[in-house]
Amino acid sequence: MGALLALMSLHMAAELPIDGSEKTEYRGNAKKYQSRTLLAFRLELGNVSQVNCDALSFSPSDVYEYLQKFGLTAAGGRLGPVGVPGLLLAGGINFYGNQVSFGCDTVVNYEIVLADSSIVEVNKTSYSDLFWALKGGSSNFGIVTRFDLQTIKSPKACAGAHTLSSKYINEFLAAAATYASDIYDPKTHIVPTLTAGETTLTTMILLYDGDSISYPDIFKPFTDIPAISSTFDFKTVAEFTAETGAMVIDGIKYNPPEAH
Ligand SMILES: Cc1cc2nc3c(=O)[nH]c(=O)nc-3n(C[C@H](O)[C@H](O)[C@H](O)COP(=O)(O)OP(=O)(O)OC[C@H]3O[C@@H](n4cnc5c(N)ncnc54)[C@H](O)[C@@H]3O)c2cc1C
Repeated sequence: MGALLALMSLHMAAELPIDGSEKTEYRGNAKKYQSRTLLAFRLELGNVSQVNCDALSFSPSDVYEYLQKFGLTAAGGRLGPVGVPGLLLAGGINFYGNQVSFGCDTVVNYEIVLADSSIVEVNKTSYSDLFWALKGGSSNFGIVTRFDLQTIKSPKACAGAHTLSSKYINEFLAAAATYASDIYDPKTHIVPTLTAGETTLTTMILLYDGDSISYPDIFKPFTDIPAISSTFDFKTVAEFTAETGAMVIDGIKYNPPEAH
């Protein structure tokens, strides 16, 4: 196999319903549905060598941390605690989207348990209609027990959260509009956020793939605005998703229903 592949195997040792993440702190009612998803992954480096690794994992951070040893990463979630399977089945907005499209577009093979209990491999030549449907079609097609993903060569990125005072909201919005109207540099990804509170803050999560350019021209409209704080610096995606993961707060996924 020519391309670099990270083969990630998700084993469900869970009570149903199937649930992709073990990180309960943002899941509201999750304890009720807590599953034990075991993620084992192994890395195949072309035809040259093969490294095997099995690890317990519940989030993309663990995958990123493993891959970074090889200067690689994957098109997964942008915040550390986000579940892996639900994201990949629904599409998967990721830091490398301008280079590789949605996370699901990097899946080359699925192992899936179908409704008749058969276990099949799904790829572009085997069950190709299901292969098409699983790329963004979300759940209900079966239980995916393994995702084989193409990895991305990206030893480091220049990334961080650039936080501005509310008095610069107009400049912030103008910078976001300028970026969105002409994304001429595919190595970039931005997550613009406005946080309402006593003092409205604007935070721009910025990522530039590469380990040599720290302030690319395309980010100048953002980085030229005086920041209250900025963590923009060279780091691995594992380090960055740990940082963004710290922004995840209780109940962010959905509000817990009333106790029955
Ligand atoms: C804080 C936060 C940050 C986020 N960041 C991103 C982001 O950067 N990019 C992005 O695209 N999305 C993001 N999301 C949305 C995220 O992709 C979805 O919440 C996704 O569903 C999470 O995956 P999960 O594995 O936890 O799914 P779950 O919530 O556990 O499940 C979602 C659906 O998929 C089904 N499912 C789960 N596992 C399997 C399986 N193995 N086989 C078949 N069906 C299965 C479930 O039954 C359910 O119907 C974020 C969400 C949160 C709360």
